[in-house]
Amino acid sequence: PPAGKGKVPRKWPIFGVKQIILVSSAKGGVGKSTTAVNLALALRAVKPSMAVGLLDADVYGPSLPKLMNLSGQPNINDRNLMIPLVNYGIKCMSMGFLVDEADPIVWRGLMVMSAIQKLLRQVAWGDLDVLVIDMPPGTGDTQLSIAQQVPVDGAVIVSTPQDLALLDARRGVNMFRKVDIPVLGIVQNMSHFLCPNCGHASSIFGSGGAQDLADEVGVDIIGDLPLDMDIRTLSDEGKPIVVAQPESKQAESYRVLAQNV
Ligand code: ADP
Repeated sequence: PPAGKGKVPRKWPIFGVKQIILVSSAKGGVGKSTTAVNLALALRAVKPSMAVGLLDADVYGPSLPKLMNLSGQPNINDRNLMIPLVNYGIKCMSMGFLVDEADPIVWRGLMVMSAIQKLLRQVAWGDLDVLVIDMPPGTGDTQLSIAQQVPVDGAVIVSTPQDLALLDARRGVNMFRKVDIPVLGIVQNMSHFLCPNCGHASSIFGSGGAQDLADEVGVDIIGDLPLDMDIRTLSDEGKPIVVAQPESKQAESYRVLAQNV
């Protein structure tokens, strides 16, 4: 893409992609990737005719290959673009397909951006209604740069109750507002504990904190997921709960999220 004038990089659409939704979090380990994957699947579950893609821009810890049970290198087409790998009806691209998992790269600043450029610009998505981008964790320059380079329709912020209390989520909201990206809402992940034996839900972190923050920053809570053994074990097996247990309450919660974005 041509360089824009001034400091802010010019936004350039991703060829064939109608809508872009970012899934972000202020820090790692809060369930951002799990949310991104299940959201992408839930979008299709709610509207099966929808063409959905999933881009794992978390080059530091690409988790999409495991979560979507995909491996191997993408083929290259005659225009020198990478062809996404597909599972569960979702086209996927991740740094994890390009580097050996057993041989992690020590990323330096410029390498990170050039890897992200490759993922943003050199993928043959075909026609997509929605591309869900699993962002790198944090609210720094890398995140800002991605947000400024492509026309983003909205951002979803994933947070745990503790982070909500620590105001981490607020940083995310502020970052997107600064660059005029609509914040679609906050997903409260691991909000209560669902006992695998009796199904009892306990609010071990208390309740109400998320709503207080949402009211304060003027953003809706658009998803609420329990801390749940099935979500984790199925993720580890590469069978996201939305496709593995579509009848479950948790899958329904992801479909509600999909309807809210
Ligand atoms: P992030 O992308 O924010 O680093 P991940 O999506 O990789 O986080 O999740 C971190 C870990 O937490 C994974 O082992 C994942 O299976 C687990 N996890 C995420 N969300 C839930 C949940 N709602 N219940 C139980 N485990 C979860």
